[in-house]
Amino acid sequence: HGDPAVRVPDAADIASWWPRADAGSDKYSRGVVGIATGSATYPGAAVLSVTGALAGPTGMVRYAGSADRDVVHRHPSVVVAPRVADAGRVQAWVCGSGLGTDDGARTELRSVLATSLPVLLDADALTLLVGGQHATDLRRDAPLVITPHDGEFARLAGERPGADRVGAACRLAAWINAVVLLKGDRTIVATPSGEAWANPTGSPALATAGSGDVLAGLLGSLLAAGVPPERAAIMAAYVHGLAGRRAERDGPVTSPDVAAALRPVLAELL
Ligand code: AMP
Ligand code: MG
Repeated sequence: HGDPAVRVPDAADIASWWPRADAGSDKYSRGVVGIATGSATYPGAAVLSVTGALAGPTGMVRYAGSADRDVVHRHPSVVVAPRVADAGRVQAWVCGSGLGTDDGARTELRSVLATSLPVLLDADALTLLVGGQHATDLRRDAPLVITPHDGEFARLAGERPGADRVGAACRLAAWINAVVLLKGDRTIVATPSGEAWANPTGSPALATAGSGDVLAGLLGSLLAAGVPPERAAIMAAYVHGLAGRRAERDGPVTSPDVAAALRPVLAELL
């Protein structure tokens, strides 16, 4: 890529930035991530984002939403609550995938945005933003990360990313004061101040339903562990891309395969 302002991370960067538990760590000091995703209609999105979060560095994952039984059945370590407001203490929230766009979903999104915590919004949460609260109302003091694919980006920005994906991501980031992770075959991470990263990993095998939900969960765990938002975004994209490559070695890839590949990828990387 010709743009010298766009940085590309390598494996050593990711490994050196990854938070690690030490002898003095406990589950709370490692961070607690809150996941507000899924619904009765889309319980799988909840399971996938939680699975992504469990591969991250946090010591605990809390789930808030109506897919709680599916989540606990798959992951007994997850602490569940029916709503964000009942979830207890977390250090960052992930909201969106499979949430739906009804009044209940809107309430959950409001609860998340009302906190002073880092927040990641994806999928239905981005749709709700476009449909209701205007995007410029998003200015909040705590970090915000959004993870749109091209269609979600277009609804938020009013136009498709176009050929200059770095420029488009930087403009949206500045406009809504959020870190923008623009998904695609060369995922871009852009900050409100105009810094940009391009992710060198990935595979077309990641173009499969639920793949983005896994990424969101992992990124949320990094936020909750205290990693700065732009760094968390590029770290999650990098590791998710490696997981896609690893999963495809065994044949056709579904998103649970991507989630399952996170652990061996991290074992090799860290
Ligand atoms: P989502 O659309 O939310 O499920 O997210 C799709 C995920 O797959 C993102 O992490 C994208 O970066 C990745 N992805 C989609 N298409 C491709 C592609 N052609 N090559 C590489 N990665 C892709
Ligand atoms: Mg998605």
